[in-house]
Amino acid sequence: MAIFWEQLERYQPVVVKMLTKSLEKGRISHAYLFEGQRGTGKKAMSLLLAKSLFCLHRSGIKPCNECRNCRRIDSGNHPDVHVIEPDGQSIKKEQIEMLQQEFAKMAVESDRKLYIIEHADKMTTNAANSLLKFLEEPRPGTVAILLTEQYHRLLETIISRCQVFSFKPIPPALLANYLAEQQIPPHIALLAAHVTNSHEEALELGRDDWFAQARKIVLQLYEMLKKNDLQALFFIHDQWIPHFQEKQQIDLGLDLLLYIYKDMLHIQLGQQDKIIYRDKIDDLQQWALSCSQRQIAKSMEMILQAKARLNTTNMSVQLLMEQLILDLKEGKVFV
Ligand SMILES: [Zn+2]
Repeated sequence: MAIFWEQLERYQPVVVKMLTKSLEKGRISHAYLFEGQRGTGKKAMSLLLAKSLFCLHRSGIKPCNECRNCRRIDSGNHPDVHVIEPDGQSIKKEQIEMLQQEFAKMAVESDRKLYIIEHADKMTTNAANSLLKFLEEPRPGTVAILLTEQYHRLLETIISRCQVFSFKPIPPALLANYLAEQQIPPHIALLAAHVTNSHEEALELGRDDWFAQARKIVLQLYEMLKKNDLQALFFIHDQWIPHFQEKQQIDLGLDLLLYIYKDMLHIQLGQQDKIIYRDKIDDLQQWALSCSQRQIAKSMEMILQAKARLNTTNMSVQLLMEQLILDLKEGKVFV
């Protein structure tokens, strides 16, 4: 998919402004560090920068996205643009050494060479030290772009050699708009946009029947809980457990449940614009009337505890959920 500066500017206006200005002035750094959460556009930005430098039919600083160079960068086949990814759990010294050998040669087709290191924080110590030497003696025309979600794990000496750009998390409303443009129903889009910050992941969720069904089950569980805890326990057995099987799915299910309480809290605080289950606003308003802020906060805490138990113990889903149902019910009666 062709991506343009204008598109990325919607999500990362500061980064785009600074990079495009450098391009216009022809002042490209020899090393960049793009840091920020998963899904914030770091890779897309680095490929766009590469295309802006290598495109054969550039208009101003805009790559054409169609020429041989643009197409080869998109498909990962440009001889002067290299992308390094972790080999298994880490980026190894040999990978950096191979890159160095490659870069010791002249550029194949132009006077420029560019490399992108994804998950740069996953470099082993040896790999990081090799890279450091490389960064300390940059060859003219060489551009390095390091990408990381874990900025603090990089060597200080590497960071100080790079021009650092921080990528901001994408506001859920903006992501939801994008999903709606891709024909995802609005109520699903908004929920998916809260679950993840990544366009691809959110789009995948939005198109997944499992996710739409998960949303239904979570809302039904809450309604059951309000009525009768015994019914809720049966419901867990019949509907929840068969649907949320893997750990990641259960975790997501708990997040979806948490959002109902968050929505109620937002209603009580008069922050209607933050509501996630917007199509359920009438119900939410009713529900919010029947509990105190303290109860809601307590329930949220219970769900977060269940999430923690899920991720740190081997407790069975059934036990975990039964315990949670009882906790949530109790919260309602006694607080
Ligand atoms: Zn081009």
